Amino acid sequence: MNLPKGDIVQQPRSRFLKVKCLDCENEQIIFGHATTEVKCLKCDKVLARPSGGKAKLEPTAREIEVLP
Ligand SMILES: [Zn+2]
Repeated sequence: MNLPKGDIVQQPRSRFLKVKCLDCENEQIIFGHATTEVKCLKCDKVLARPSGGKAKLEPTAREIEVLP
């Protein structure tokens, strides 16, 4: 392993998602591979849950765009 120190490791499947909470219309960035539940910062609804290494969006959340 010779990973650069302090850098984010670039992996094709590593990405961030911009999602919108359909409950309160708050938009926030979540990690596409979240390993814990991601909650809306505004209303505390669960927006995504970990699922086999990939975050699975709840019906409460809508994916707006995938960030590079
Ligand atoms: Zn919300």
